[in-house]
Parts: sequence; structure tokens; C-alpha cells
Amino acid sequence: MKKVRKIDVNSIGFRSWTAFVLLGLFIILFLWITQVVFLQVYVNRTKKDEFAAVGRELMTKYYGDYQKEFGQIANRSSCTVDLLRQTGGEWTVAYSSSGVLFGDEGDKVDMSDSLSYLAQNANWREGVYRTDNATSQLYYGVYADAAESELLVISQSNALLDSTTKILQIQMGIASIIIIVLSIGVSFLMSSTFSQDLRRLSESAKRLKDNDLSVHFDEKGFSEAKELARTLNYATAELQKTEALRQELISNVSHDLRTPLTIIKGYAEMIRDITGEDPAKREEQLGVILKETDRLSGLVNDLLELSRAQNQNKPFTPQRVDLSAIIARALDSFDVLIKRDGYVLEKDVEDELWVMGDAKQLELTVYNLVANAINYSGREKYILVQAKATDGKVKCVVQDHGVGIPEEQLATIWQRYYRVEHAREVVGTGLGLSIVQTILTRHNAEYGVESKVDEGSTFWFELPLSR
Ligand code: ADP
Repeated sequence: MKKVRKIDVNSIGFRSWTAFVLLGLFIILFLWITQVVFLQVYVNRTKKDEFAAVGRELMTKYYGDYQKEFGQIANRSSCTVDLLRQTGGEWTVAYSSSGVLFGDEGDKVDMSDSLSYLAQNANWREGVYRTDNATSQLYYGVYADAAESELLVISQSNALLDSTTKILQIQMGIASIIIIVLSIGVSFLMSSTFSQDLRRLSESAKRLKDNDLSVHFDEKGFSEAKELARTLNYATAELQKTEALRQELISNVSHDLRTPLTIIKGYAEMIRDITGEDPAKREEQLGVILKETDRLSGLVNDLLELSRAQNQNKPFTPQRVDLSAIIARALDSFDVLIKRDGYVLEKDVEDELWVMGDAKQLELTVYNLVANAINYSGREKYILVQAKATDGKVKCVVQDHGVGIPEEQLATIWQRYYRVEHAREVVGTGLGLSIVQTILTRHNAEYGVESKVDEGSTFWFELPLSR
């Protein structure tokens, strides 16, 4: 069955089509009124004045041997002048400049509608004007005497005006057809290009709605359509990034969660089935379980921190904060560990280091750097935390004399989940530095690392001092 396309009255196509056609009709109407109707009115008015003037002139000459004067006036004004006289209800021609219209002098006049109209409506002072369409004549009648028995009729052929009007009407007709055709054509062309752009965009948008992130919006056509396409492409790119991150995160997280979970399950089963009665083995295996549990909660915490730091929707609003206080707070967390495991922590932090930033995020940064320094400090167990103001900047350094990082890996350690192969006992998620990087980038901070294998690493970042 053929699908009948319904006209959408709200579509750009229909709207612009009707607007153009209405505009076309309006132009035609305007032209008709000015060219045809007004022309007639204008001609009638000027003719009437012209005839009245001729009438007045004739009156001034209406005495004695007036015929010659009348003839001259008629000739000069290109009119025909007739004087009709009424006697006993009959009209006869008293004078005629042409002898054509109503007959020669002395002839009886056959009173046409127009003549009767003139005879009835004119008076001595005021003449009347009349167009006779049947004979295509313009008449002007005025009484030459107060008794209203002598009617002066001035007339002129209307043929020229008639033919002019006809030509105009034909021209107008042609112009109207051209205007209508043009307005329909132009509106159709314009609206179809307009709506074509939009339709193309909405086709692509539909694909996007169906989760097809590979769509591309063509940046062509009207500027507005281009702009829209650009915005949509940008939005799609962002969606793609989010989707990629999501997928990566899910696969990494599930991988990272599965390993410790498998170990925990394995050891738990072993304790239940085999070693439950053997205290030494059981303790050892419970230790593994606890270690893996710690690892799991560490991973979950890091993931949360990372997603929090990366949350672009939450605007970053830096405040004036004291970095020395922040460092002190971050180091507090390690007190127990340092005392228990015999780390040497050297603290060289100036007081009152005011910077613009987010206190929580900066504390997390220092915390992660120190945690790494402790983790990878090797046998030396030495950690230096330094913060000093120079040249309007605060430089914070976290240094250890531990295992160091191979040069070729210095660039990659910031990546998410990146871990250098270490002895098994070092527990990490590979997320710490990635969180640090996200936070420092948000703070527009300079940062970096210098490291040599077996000599140790120095991580640093720099923020402008806030006065
Ligand atoms: P994690 O420490 O959880 O593995 P990070 O993102 O914090 O993850 O660090 C990524 C990698 O960078 C670590 O696996 C480690 O190999 C290396 N690294 C980080 N800090 C140090 C350090 N102070 N000394 C040596 N290696 C380090």
C-alpha cells in the first residue's frame, strides 16, 4: 500500500511556502489597487476638474455669437461641446462642436441614460460628471441658465484610458502569474534546503538516540545548521569518551575485583575443608584473606576518589587554602604506620603557604604521593616531604630513597591502572597517580617526577602563591 504523505502544517516547508505565497498575493493585490483602481479614480478626478474648468470658460463666452468661441475652446481642450435646449419636454441640439454625438443643430435629442442623469443632477452653478461605459464617453453637464433649460454637455472619448487600463490589466495578469509561480518556486527551494539540513541532522540524531555512537553530523548547509552539527558532534565525541571510559573501567575493575575475590574464596574454602583444624596454617591463610580484603577496599576507595576528581559536572571552585596545614593533615594519617614500621619521615614545610585550590583534593594528592613513597621506599624507609615558597610559587616535594622507576616507564606511571612490576608484597591499585594527575591538572599545577632505579624517586608539584 502506498503511504500517503500527510502535510505537516508546522513544518518549515509548509510555513515558508505559505508565507511566500501570501507575500506574493499581497504584492499582486497592492499592484492591482495602485495600478488599476487608483488609476481610474485619479483619471476621473482630474478629468472632472478639467471639464469643470472648460465649462466655466464656456459660460464666460456664452453671449451673442458664441459658436465660434465654443468651437475654439472645444478644439483647444480636445473635447466636444454640445448645447442642448429643452422646450416643452423635448430636447433639441442648440449647438454642437462636432455634430456627431447628439446630431446637428436643430435635431431632436434622444436622451440616453447618461444624458438624463446629467439633466437631472446638474444645476446652474454645479456640473456633474459621468462615465458612459456603453459608448466609452466621459460626460460633463452643467446648466447654462438659471431656469435649467439649456444644458451644456462637454464630452471626451474614454477609449485611450480604456485601452491603457486593458493593457495594464493584461500586464498585471502576467505579472501576477509570474509572482505566484516565483514565490511558490522560491519558497519550495528555500524550504526544502532548510528542512533538508534539519532532516539530515535529525536522521543522525535518531541514530544517536539508538545508541549508535559512531554517527557523524555533517557540518554543511546553513550556518545555524552547521553550528548545530558542530555542537552535536562535540556532544557525541564526549559521549564516546564517556562510553570508552565506562567500558575500560568496567573491564579493569572487574578484572581487579575478580583476582582478590578468587583468592579469598579459594583460601576460605581451604580453611573450611582442609586446614580449619590446623591453627598455624589457618592463621596464615586468614592473613592472606585479610590482605586481599584490604586490597579490595583500597581499590574501591581509589575508584571513588578518581571518579569524584574527574567529575566534570561538578564545577571546580578553588579557594584560598593553606598548603602547610593540608600537608600536616595528610601526614597525620601515616603516624601509626610510620611509628609501627620504623619509617623515617623528614618534614621540611614552611608555615602559611597560601594557594588557590580545593583543600580535600590537595590533601588527597599529598596523601597518595606519600603513600607511594612509603610503598616503594624499599629497605631505606626514608621519606622527605618538603614545601617551600620561591618566586611567588609553592613547590611541594615528596622524595624517597627506594626502588625508583625505570626511565622508560616514567611517562606511563600516571596512566590509570599502570603498575610497574614489583615484588608481590607491594599492594597497589595503579590508580593513585592517575588521581594525582587529574587533581593537579584541574588545579593548573605544574608537576613531575625524577627517578633512578634503586636510588629513589622525587615527585613534585608547583602552585602559584596566593597573596
Ligand atoms: P599504585 O601505587 O597503586 O600501583 P600508582 O598510580 O600510585 O599506583 O602508581 C603507579 C606506578 O608508579 C606504581 O605501580 C609504581 O610502579 C610507580 N610508582 C609510583 N610512585 C613510586 C615511587 N615513589 N617509587 C617508585 N615507583 C613508584
